[in-house]
Amino acid sequence: MINPAYDAQIRTWIDAHRDEILEELMTLMRVPSIRSEPLPGAPFGAECRRALEASAQLFEKLGFAARTEYDRGYTLATYGESEKTIGLFGHADVVPVGDGWIYTEPFTPLVKNGYLIGRGGADDKAGVVIAAYVLAMFRDLGLPVKSRLLACAGSNEETGMNDIQAFVANEACPDIAIVPDGDFPCSLGEKGKLIMWAESDTPFTAIRSFGGGLSTNVVLGEVDVTIAPNAALEAQLREKIAGDSDYTLTAAEDGTLHLHVKGLSGHASWPVGTVNAGAKAAALLCECDALPESDRAILATVRDYVTDPFGTGSGIAHEDPRFGRLSAANGLMEVKDGKLRLSMDTRYGTTMPSEELKNKLRTVWGSRGWSLPSLESREAFHVDDNSPVPELIRTICADITGVDRPCFRMSGGTYSHYLPNGFSCGVSLTAKGATLGEAAGSDALTFPEGHGSVHQPDESLEIEGFFTALRAIAHTVLQCDELLQN
Ligand SMILES: [Zn+2]
Repeated sequence: MINPAYDAQIRTWIDAHRDEILEELMTLMRVPSIRSEPLPGAPFGAECRRALEASAQLFEKLGFAARTEYDRGYTLATYGESEKTIGLFGHADVVPVGDGWIYTEPFTPLVKNGYLIGRGGADDKAGVVIAAYVLAMFRDLGLPVKSRLLACAGSNEETGMNDIQAFVANEACPDIAIVPDGDFPCSLGEKGKLIMWAESDTPFTAIRSFGGGLSTNVVLGEVDVTIAPNAALEAQLREKIAGDSDYTLTAAEDGTLHLHVKGLSGHASWPVGTVNAGAKAAALLCECDALPESDRAILATVRDYVTDPFGTGSGIAHEDPRFGRLSAANGLMEVKDGKLRLSMDTRYGTTMPSEELKNKLRTVWGSRGWSLPSLESREAFHVDDNSPVPELIRTICADITGVDRPCFRMSGGTYSHYLPNGFSCGVSLTAKGATLGEAAGSDALTFPEGHGSVHQPDESLEIEGFFTALRAIAHTVLQCDELLQN
């Protein structure tokens, strides 16, 4: 049970700081912290460094001395002194913006109908702000914690997690780490993740370019194909795509064909309902016999292996008793030296060892004449079955919302993967859960398909849910402190 006296104090404090907290979150969101070229003191690019500076400024502004390790990619601040530490971790880097934002520019945060819209608000600058303000709240209210509190903001979560690995290698790890970067109540583990690049051994003959995508972990939403002049092919394509606005075909003056195909993007970790634009373009072109046979053979593999994001086509489908279905989604495609290259992001449970999966992948892609120049994996993990922390967070969420939701296993990865005793929870807690749109006030925004969630255009954070998350995490810290003192 949450302590009602502390809860009253916490709620009053949050109400008094709402505007300030939102302002600070928007300040962080204005930094376009997408990974870019490394620079001295900025291994993940200038804007990721700026996001660390902005996070450190927030810690300092709230009265906590920040220590920023630019080369390692994180900044941290602490409150209190104790042998035991409770850590709160968020990340200030973001995924690329993508196309088709409707409500605002990606780095111009907008408050609209109860949502805060902008890249990085929900994922995961809200987590950084929660970490900072939990420290401020505990100090201001003098809440009785014996543990030292640590707030940490990273800048490489989305593209490799080198930041948190450097933290674990160089810092004393907290006794319990809370990572608000997922969903409530609490994740019991995370799927393994394998990022692979596949390359066709045969170069294209007629196709000059075939590419698109934002990052390996975002399903390829739009693809552009350029093809050498070919009147018969143009006629076949025009007939097949007539009346379908997902396809645009143009011919340049010299006859060069340009085909643009739209699919439906989404997060690679759970690609339900997504449509891969590259596979869709490949399927279309495979039906056109005016395209040279060898080009069609290359595209047939894309059609067969990439269309279904759960590995059915390539024969790697797998069901894990704890984690459920394996997923395998393509994010990037490009042509290099005439050869088609594509990325695959595969997520799987603890009963699928990475080495076994790699061998399967080499076999199935190899049988079609493709090489796998790069295969990088991180094993699945699940939290200690005996840890009381997940139950503790679940009970707090149920007390606050009146709805008891079970803990779950995640498809995505968070810092909790690397942090001993790390537990990821959400940044927005609502009565019905953390799911977007379920907050459903009468004037709640309805986002079109493919908009509004993390990694999508119009990424949004439900504002009431965010403040409730801050409240729930404050109670989590109080109760974790009791655990550590016993
Ligand atoms: Zn995140």
